Amino acid sequence: MTDPTLDHVLNIRDLSVHFPVGGGFMGRGKKILKAVEGFDLRVRRGETLGVVGESGCGKSTLARALMGLVPIKDGHIGFHPRTSEIGPGGLDLAAASRAEWKKAHRAMQIVFQDPFSSLSPKQTVGQTVGEPLIVHGVAPRGWRERVGELLDMVGLSAADFDRYPHEFSGGQRQRIMIARAIALEPEVLIADEAVSALDVSIQLQVIRLLEDLKAKLGLTLIFISHDLSVVRALSDRVVIMYLGRPVEVGEGHQIFSDPRHPYTRMLIRSTPVPDPDFRLEQMESFGELPSPIAPPPGCPFHTRCAHATDICKTTLPGPVRLSDTHHAACHFATELPAMPPLRRSVA
Ligand code: SF4
Repeated sequence: MTDPTLDHVLNIRDLSVHFPVGGGFMGRGKKILKAVEGFDLRVRRGETLGVVGESGCGKSTLARALMGLVPIKDGHIGFHPRTSEIGPGGLDLAAASRAEWKKAHRAMQIVFQDPFSSLSPKQTVGQTVGEPLIVHGVAPRGWRERVGELLDMVGLSAADFDRYPHEFSGGQRQRIMIARAIALEPEVLIADEAVSALDVSIQLQVIRLLEDLKAKLGLTLIFISHDLSVVRALSDRVVIMYLGRPVEVGEGHQIFSDPRHPYTRMLIRSTPVPDPDFRLEQMESFGELPSPIAPPPGCPFHTRCAHATDICKTTLPGPVRLSDTHHAACHFATELPAMPPLRRSVA
């Protein structure tokens, strides 16, 4: 049998991340928010994986769990970079020591949504981008030159070294954060809503930069967004998340041409089409995202799903295999009629 770690840089198994919320004296009345629950996913080496869902579906918590920024309740995160610092057996990030996390952070980095709050106003661009090099003892003598190279790679200039964040636009600040994230030559880059705060034209520029860096550096890119159209533009594979779980996983063309989970269809139908002659047809689903503190029993989507039957209210659907690369967690994934195309309005 082939070793799966040859092809997969991350192997996430049964991952759960819970947060206690509320509660009075001595924690009485405390509730549990299940941000990520029973999450299974393999990330292929060198792919761009889009992770999509509404705000509150757990996608950013998943990103933070991969970076060790939130405590993990259960599960495993097998990390198998090619770096010689981490042996052939890889690391289980869910049980990693501080020393192991330091190695892991050389091989996996993240870019967050808001570059301004991620940047220290008191640090120059050079200090910000060079900090990981100094902390990890990489290029201790030539770090200034290396920062110049990194700024050049993200479309800025070595002449920006001594400037401060407030002197840059939002898009340029995100480029600074990307330069910092690639400073240690990671194998995996997580972009967590990294273009969501930017104007559409600037979003496109930053997406092109990420694609360019992925090709040049051989990155695996995990692109997290609530915006299906952005994910569609750049992802090889797509994971649709709902209430902390992956509900549909497939190649981009499978997800967008033949979505098999009603929630995926809802997301596609609620994505604006950039053509004024198109109008949205009747939605297949309705209502708001339930609270992850009290998720519905059975299929978590049943309170919004037009296809729900009795079994959906009591039984959590497992992933239904639609092909080697396409799975959907719906009792009726193979039976749903094809999603009709969006119709052109006659008005
Ligand atoms: Fe809808 Fe039932 Fe499928 Fe859940 S299992 S998505 S409720 S049809």
